[in-house]
Amino acid sequence: MHFYALDEKENLVPAHQADKSLHYYCRECLGLVKSRGGLLRQMHFYHLEPNRSCRQNGKSLVQLQVQHYLQNCLPDCELEKEFPLINRIADVYWEKEGLIIEIQCSSISAREIEERNQDYARIGYQVLWILHDRLFNRHRLTAAEYFLQDSLHYFTNIDSEGVGYIYDQWDRIEKGKRALTLGFRKVNFFSYHSHLKESLALGSYPPWIKKRLESWRGYFTGDYLDYFLNMQESEKAALLSALSVDEQSGIMQVEENLQPGVKRKLKKLIRLISFSYRLGLNFILEKLAK
Ligand SMILES: [Zn+2]
Repeated sequence: MHFYALDEKENLVPAHQADKSLHYYCRECLGLVKSRGGLLRQMHFYHLEPNRSCRQNGKSLVQLQVQHYLQNCLPDCELEKEFPLINRIADVYWEKEGLIIEIQCSSISAREIEERNQDYARIGYQVLWILHDRLFNRHRLTAAEYFLQDSLHYFTNIDSEGVGYIYDQWDRIEKGKRALTLGFRKVNFFSYHSHLKESLALGSYPPWIKKRLESWRGYFTGDYLDYFLNMQESEKAALLSALSVDEQSGIMQVEENLQPGVKRKLKKLIRLISFSYRLGLNFILEKLAK
């Protein structure tokens, strides 16, 4: 499914302007497509003959909803932008910030992600990946997620009705699994910040935040980069020391010499952070007790 197709004269036609009785052509595989949708569903094109190798054909309604969500937040972005030089069609293209947004609702190899990142980098763009949590963000990481650890990416839970949001998350990975997860943070796509690495690289941050500062061109309000950059130095220092986990017990350590106010805030934060970790632990304990 996709939002754009070509007519007989090779003009690009958006689905909401297409005539439902006419045939159009997919831009990627040139297969025959028609438009459908209406009151309850986004207008879109579908292939008359399914083509497994065509990425436009493989897109689901959920993926269209995420594209639509992004278009609402970023009115100056372009959906399904074609880049003939690298022979690719980007899900979302945001020229102003040099950003390509790729939405992934189906499985993908790490190699394909790397190739797309490299292709877009060659023509000057950075790719922001949005992975759908129906398939991704499970206990065990896919190779693609493993590859994306230090690259610009978020998750989404937007459904086929368009309900949901995009969120950021950080995990401590052990043996290919999520051993500890910091609580998810909703990302506000209405508010983007491009940043100057030089000024932001100063200060103390956890290594994964430093990597983001080095490799991400920018970030959106609400994500972990935004969260850390807006923290007080004392809170930041406290969190940094708290994130050193006792490997023996798996319990986060709180420095004893902190000021009482900072310590209280920190304990609250750690309770939030370790909530999902404790949930898992409780589950195991309950199972053992039976
Ligand atoms: Zn096609």
